Amino acid sequence: MDDLHKIAKAYYTTANEESKSQGKSFFKRMDHDGSGGITIQEYLAYMKRERYTKMANRPFFDYLNKSRTGELDFMEVMTLFYIIKSGRKICDGCGGLLKGTFFSCTDCFANDDESFNLCSKCFTERKYVHPHKHFLDNYIILENMKVKLEEKEKKIKQMKAAKVKMEAALAKHQVPDASNAIVLYNQRRPVS
Ligand SMILES: [Zn+2]
Ligand SMILES: [Zn+2]
Repeated sequence: MDDLHKIAKAYYTTANEESKSQGKSFFKRMDHDGSGGITIQEYLAYMKRERYTKMANRPFFDYLNKSRTGELDFMEVMTLFYIIKSGRKICDGCGGLLKGTFFSCTDCFANDDESFNLCSKCFTERKYVHPHKHFLDNYIILENMKVKLEEKEKKIKQMKAAKVKMEAALAKHQVPDASNAIVLYNQRRPVS
């Protein structure tokens, strides 16, 4: 987590004014009583209201509260802001942040809101409850998606090429019918 605090701080300090004010208003919305610190109650209320349910718990609050003061200060909230903005995923087994390789349910993967992800530990030790059985690590899933996308693009290209070929062949073999012949033959051409 220390890493993420550092990354988030680096992002915030180098961010432009617009991003900084986004961060500030994020903090203000959470700081219900305007005290300048976020209590666990304020944190939980905000996270539940905004439907960040996987992070709406005490361990995650403690995780963010690096200073161990019992209240999140501005930069600690910016770490949360960074986690949300960067789309970091949470382990659906232990609730920890996923770093590096993790496992994702292939049935749920396409549905981003409902994706089901596990850290290596929870996956290996089967510490989860989930109706589906097929899991792949995030790199393989992305690779598979890339391959499928490339295959799809290749097929579309082939189909387009075939269509062009067919149209060219049709145009070549098209025999003008009688009406076409009349139009083509301009009888009103002045005789020179
Ligand atoms: Zn886990
Ligand atoms: Zn699933």
